[in-house]
Amino acid sequence: MGPPAEALRKLGYPATRGRGEILRILSESPLPLSPREILDRFPAPRPDASTVYRNLSLLVSLGLVRSVALHERSRRYELATDGSHRHRVVCRRCGRIDSFQPRRCDLSRLEADIRGTLGYDVKEHSLEFFGACPKCRATEEGR
Ligand SMILES: [Zn+2]
Ligand SMILES: [Zn+2]
Repeated sequence: MGPPAEALRKLGYPATRGRGEILRILSESPLPLSPREILDRFPAPRPDASTVYRNLSLLVSLGLVRSVALHERSRRYELATDGSHRHRVVCRRCGRIDSFQPRRCDLSRLEADIRGTLGYDVKEHSLEFFGACPKCRATEEGR
């Protein structure tokens, strides 16, 4: 178990097998995962779905895991402790998801607008882009 599991212990929660596995599975995935996908990656014996949901919401409330809304029916989850800042792009046609590390992410004007109009001091952001992936574009253009 890596640093996230230690963070869990420091917060006073036992790093149970289920919690440790969720953190390991998320740390090995470059993309945010749905609860179903997390469960599918669990080594045997697999816990039941409700245990996974319960542990996910605990990890989210502790700030170790972040939930990501990609305009889908199910939420996805990723490690919040991952230092690298990533954005996601979702194919509207086939549902493929890619993530990328922006070279530069300057939203200072947008953040100034938010501060000016709503009074918020913005600390972080999450950006999702939607479009057509190369494969779907090729199919479309080949018609
Ligand atoms: Zn596609
Ligand atoms: Zn960004």
